[in-house]
Amino acid sequence: MRKTADCVIVGGGVIGCALAYYLAREGITDCVVLESGYLASGATGRCGGGIRQQWSTEENARLAIESVRAFGNLSRELDADIDFLQGGYLVLAYTDEDVRQFERNVSLQRSLGLSVEVLSPEDIRRKIAPMLNTDGVRLATHCATDGSANPFLTTKAYADAARRLGAAVELYTPVTRVLADRGSLRWLAILSPTITAMTMSMIGVAPTYIVLVILLMTTGLSSAFWHVPMPVMIARFVMGESRQPPNV
Ligand SMILES: Cc1cc2nc3c(=O)[nH]c(=O)nc-3n(C[C@H](O)[C@H](O)[C@H](O)COP(=O)(O)OP(=O)(O)OC[C@H]3O[C@@H](n4cnc5c(N)ncnc54)[C@H](O)[C@@H]3O)c2cc1C
Repeated sequence: MRKTADCVIVGGGVIGCALAYYLAREGITDCVVLESGYLASGATGRCGGGIRQQWSTEENARLAIESVRAFGNLSRELDADIDFLQGGYLVLAYTDEDVRQFERNVSLQRSLGLSVEVLSPEDIRRKIAPMLNTDGVRLATHCATDGSANPFLTTKAYADAARRLGAAVELYTPVTRVLADRGSLRWLAILSPTITAMTMSMIGVAPTYIVLVILLMTTGLSSAFWHVPMPVMIARFVMGESRQPPNV
């Protein structure tokens, strides 16, 4: 097992493994992912795998539109089937407030070039989901290019592709401590029961911050440092499957 690396990513969820792959693709291959359990054992393994472009802020919508473009080519790029399916996403509005918000969302989404339909409950049953109970539904929005992918397959595909490019992915390797030389900010050590110390050669100061940011982003450790108020929101989505005739 490596004792040093230019870049250490803590957490083998979809973000950690994707980071390892994209860094390796950019030439940063002296990189190791440390995962305390198995791949996708955190939030990634519990998620619905939905890939939705229908967002209410421009930043999220632009990011999601770009993500869908990337997902369209990802199986080929990673040389693994990630089960990406563009079966559409139906978002249901039940209240006046939902309806007003959905109208704002649709106008933003269309201004970014996204094709989004506004549907009445009758439209939903006729065009999209005949079996859906639409009691209380005021309207819905539907984007046919939204979809889903398998979170386990996607994470494994990223990890395997990163390994092929030279990165290492170590499972059952929890990080127990992070030490930094605050004086010079030139080294950082990561401790785990199986690795006594992992030091990184730092070029200047910035990489230290990059490593820390990667660490915080990928493990949820950020909550230990900052308390960010999280609004609770109820949303009702239906993920679809395309109505292609079966191959017989
Ligand atoms: C119920 C649910 C449904 C969701 N549905 C969707 C959806 O439909 N679409 C969507 O886009 N998103 C969805 N999400 C959000 C999505 O799952 C997360 O945004 C995404 O999985 C985050 O990935 P991650 O790699 O950052 O975190 P994680 O997958 O949680 O990865 C963090 C990893 O770090 C490891 N780790 C933690 N501490 C240490 C340590 N000290 N040392 C080593 N390893 C450590 C953990 O074991 C874990 O594997 C959903 C989430 C949940 C919970």
